[in-house]
Amino acid sequence: METIDFATSPMQNFVFLGKKFFIKRDDLINKDFSGNKARKFAYFLHHKPLHVKNIISYGSNQSNAMYSLSVLAKTLHVKFLYVCNHIPSFLKQNPVGNYKEALKNGMEIFTNDNPKQFAQNLTCKNSLFIKEGGAIKEAEYGIKVLADEINEWAQDKKYDIFLPSGTGTTALYLQKNTRLKVFTNPCVGNEEYLKKQFLELEENEKIHPTILNPPKKYHFGKPKIELFHMYEMLKKSTNIEFDLLYDPIGWITIEHNLQVFKNPIIYIHQGGLLGNVSLLHRYAKKFKLNL
Ligand SMILES: *Cc1c(COP(=O)(O)O)cnc(C)c1O
Repeated sequence: METIDFATSPMQNFVFLGKKFFIKRDDLINKDFSGNKARKFAYFLHHKPLHVKNIISYGSNQSNAMYSLSVLAKTLHVKFLYVCNHIPSFLKQNPVGNYKEALKNGMEIFTNDNPKQFAQNLTCKNSLFIKEGGAIKEAEYGIKVLADEINEWAQDKKYDIFLPSGTGTTALYLQKNTRLKVFTNPCVGNEEYLKKQFLELEENEKIHPTILNPPKKYHFGKPKIELFHMYEMLKKSTNIEFDLLYDPIGWITIEHNLQVFKNPIIYIHQGGLLGNVSLLHRYAKKFKLNL
């Protein structure tokens, strides 16, 4: 693997919650490198950092960003060092999902009580250090390409854009690069946390996305049966598999705020399906589901 092709991702439509939605299929960008992490890290594919000998990052042991960085490192022929808090012995013995595939791509994994600090200490002048979840300025480069694709498709018609947020990086740079209004909801932390994340990347609040909230708080990554039901309902009515970590909270937020949208909604499918493998195991175990 030397380069990765980026084709324009398809726009599809379906009816859900009694409303017509357009869906931007960023999950289909590329089989190995897709979703918003591909958009965020595209910069480094097109501006190969020649001095870089290793990529260093940190975060959860099933992170989508971790997997995508392992693909990036493999493509650039550099090492990938990743630090997480903890790896359950069950996962070590039975690798699945992002963890399994990132290891296959050559990831060297470390554990430490303070992953960020430990990752920073591993960094030398030949390292490319990536903040957790890819909350970096370089992400704008690839997210602008997404915005341009949507702008081109929308022409001069009116649409609202919706996507669920983790770090908020994708929503922020999308809003910065389109005249359409971007709506998002926090999945990690609350509205305050998300606003802070926006401010770290962009001081001008006028170009921040509009935050909507789900009807109740969800603890990030914790299986909840209504999230699984939303995932299943989406799959049944659209024939599309959505991510199980962010998308169900996103769709619950849309359902709860339907009256806010003045225009047809474009929903961004941000990928993350490899992460579903491990999460589905956890759902099956917790709710005794027969999956
Ligand atoms: C990483 C990720 C998000 C969150 O993206 P941010 O730019 O951090 O807000 C949402 N959905 C999926 C599927 C992801 O992998």
